[in-house]
Amino acid sequence: GPIIGVLALQGDVREHVHALIGCGADARPVRRPEELDAVDGLVIPGGESTTISKLVDIFEMREPIDKRIAAGMPVYGSCAGMIMLARQVLDGRPDQRGFEAIEMTVRRNAFGRQVDSFEAPVTLAGVEGEPFHAVFIRAPWVERVGDEVEVLGTVTEGPAAGRIVAVRQGNLLATSFHPELTGDLRLHAYFVDLVRAAA
Ligand code: GLN
Repeated sequence: GPIIGVLALQGDVREHVHALIGCGADARPVRRPEELDAVDGLVIPGGESTTISKLVDIFEMREPIDKRIAAGMPVYGSCAGMIMLARQVLDGRPDQRGFEAIEMTVRRNAFGRQVDSFEAPVTLAGVEGEPFHAVFIRAPWVERVGDEVEVLGTVTEGPAAGRIVAVRQGNLLATSFHPELTGDLRLHAYFVDLVRAAA
């Protein structure tokens, strides 16, 4: 299968590696520029975007990742990873900086103003079968998308109904929630297919 890296600076790296392996990918943690060179796609895991942002600079991964994104490498960001891919972040720390790659505005810890974590069914465009059982943990939501961004999923019930929680822009994919925690491999399979198609 395709070689897919999981950015291993902070966050739930192992869970993504296991989910990707379950989908037939050759998955591995990536924390150095040489390791990034060897992968066909990259997952940016959930964790804490302010910390990941700092570590990206300390590990000198910012420019290499920026360059690969510009060259069309598929990237999937979950939760903190979604924040790292957003053009604009609301309620971010002043010093946090992402890759500004998906033309969207996300609000950090958006659901958390009501409740820290919750679960909700989310129907995803392009993913067959029953709605996704989406797990949100101090998650962002998307408040604005550019014309080139495809909305893949929104929350359909409860106080957050209508909020955008899954998007795609070309080879870039992002979700507010954590499919790596539920054993449902459909979203990782979708990403592995995307990486295969791009390679
Ligand atoms: N609140 C975290 C952040 O701002 C994201 C939480 C998560 O990734 N589960 O980065």
